[in-house]
Amino acid sequence: MRRTPPTPLALLLGALAPVLTAVPTTPAEDAADLVLAHGVLYPVDPPEPVEGSLAIRDGAIVYLGPPAGAEPLVGPETEVIELAGRAVTPGLIDAHSHLAGLGAALEQVDLVGTGSYEEVVARIAAAAAELPAGTWVRGRGWDQNDWPVKEFPGHGPLSAALPDHPVWVNRIDGHAALLNTRAMAELEIGAATPDPPGGRFLRDAEGRPTGVLIDNAMDVAGVRLPATDAATIRRRIAAAAGYAAARGLTTVTDMGVDGPTIAAYRDLAGAGELPLRAALFLTDSAPLLESWFASGPEVDPAGRLTIRGVKLYADGALGSRGAALVEPYADDPGNLGLLTASGDHLAEVAGRARDAGFQVGIHAIGDRGNVVALDALERALGVGWQNGRRVRDGDDPRFRIEHAQLLRLEDLARMAELGVIASMQPTHATSDMPWAGDRVGERRLAGAYAWRKVLAAGGRLALGSDFPVERVDPLLGLYAAVTRQDLEGEPEGGWLPGERLTRDEALRGFTLDAAQSLFLEHLVGSLAPGKRADLVVFDRDPMRVPAAEIPAVQVDLTVVDGRIVHRREEAP
Ligand SMILES: [Zn+2]
Repeated sequence: MRRTPPTPLALLLGALAPVLTAVPTTPAEDAADLVLAHGVLYPVDPPEPVEGSLAIRDGAIVYLGPPAGAEPLVGPETEVIELAGRAVTPGLIDAHSHLAGLGAALEQVDLVGTGSYEEVVARIAAAAAELPAGTWVRGRGWDQNDWPVKEFPGHGPLSAALPDHPVWVNRIDGHAALLNTRAMAELEIGAATPDPPGGRFLRDAEGRPTGVLIDNAMDVAGVRLPATDAATIRRRIAAAAGYAAARGLTTVTDMGVDGPTIAAYRDLAGAGELPLRAALFLTDSAPLLESWFASGPEVDPAGRLTIRGVKLYADGALGSRGAALVEPYADDPGNLGLLTASGDHLAEVAGRARDAGFQVGIHAIGDRGNVVALDALERALGVGWQNGRRVRDGDDPRFRIEHAQLLRLEDLARMAELGVIASMQPTHATSDMPWAGDRVGERRLAGAYAWRKVLAAGGRLALGSDFPVERVDPLLGLYAAVTRQDLEGEPEGGWLPGERLTRDEALRGFTLDAAQSLFLEHLVGSLAPGKRADLVVFDRDPMRVPAAEIPAVQVDLTVVDGRIVHRREEAP
């Protein structure tokens, strides 16, 4: 038996609670592999915490309850970790994220938090100085809303500072990119390049591209970028998975993957090199969907890799005014945003997906984007659904709307009636709150980032981060969900505070309801005997510390399938 050295607090609690004895009376085959002793365990279902111990055998939870009940499960080979009152939650689940994108972002120039265009150019130039001429320099995270001049930049200063490297840097929301002259030349973007449907090349007075690409214009240009090789994709996913696991995530998503990315995930899962679970949503490409709809969903034998979703887009994002609105932008009269796909296309793909056993998640941010998405899902659901109830046996499509940031109140109700899952990201609200009111005006804010209204209508809320758009750490999501404040505690009382969630609701959104939104709730999402042992141990209790201290809570241990995949260095 290996016992971790107890801390002074552990010794104190040990004196109060029954101490696990090491008497090896348990037959080895009945013994637990791992016992977490004397903790505060949050099963989520039910929400009330249990002060006790948890035992794991063969990757599954076999006991949760008073410490005495775990003692008979301790055998000679059992590892016992003394929690000394530390908190344990189910492994956290990010219902909407981009794992491969995170891996790429970790290798890119980080432009998050830049205070001016000059700073953006300086950071890119510093990175390019390390790379041979002609090498692509990629970056992400600029946001003109954080600059003194809150307008889209032109390529001029960037092109002047970087004449020898093609540069492509994404805006923070991923819905706009800035390119320099060298990049536009290599991708053959010029005055004669037409705007694609659902996209735009911003232009100067003479019609020349300014270097800013919006939404589908990024796709048109992006297909001409040099391809990434398989080893690079695998390296990035593995790095991102380790990064996410270290922050308490045990299941992540990859919303919109192509064939090479799927192959990389399969390679990693097959080699046992995926330290957490990943659920993949296929990108909306006709040949890719055709072959997957013919073969059906895929879950690997170890339950690490699930491929049974399709990611679709209805519109763009609010920050770049690409989100489709019913009425014009309050700060750009005449602009209704962009629909990036037709309702017919969304309904057609959703219907085929449903028949093939796949779910769809439709990106819809503006209220018009959400109308189009809900109309399409309603058509795809067809006659089998009434008032959110399945009237056709065995049919459980679990359609999702991704982001659902601005909805008319009648559509919030309709989403719940249709049984459509709201896949929302608490940190999007706190990132967008400084300018969201400018974009949509006071009246429409009633349906903005309206988590409580989703629940009040009887809808389901699956929470996530949309990393790498937002930071990976799910505790930041928990904090944003319960406070609707930024990390400085602003605004006082929270932004639109009526939409704050309780900690129980927020934890459920990041665990069981996120699992349900991925067809994984039978495996994970709560702490219960029989479920896979995916869980997190924290240094302090994120469910009980003052809300302002949630972001500082540390992940001591992350456990997936009963195996410790992350252990904080200074942790006891
Ligand atoms: Zn996303």
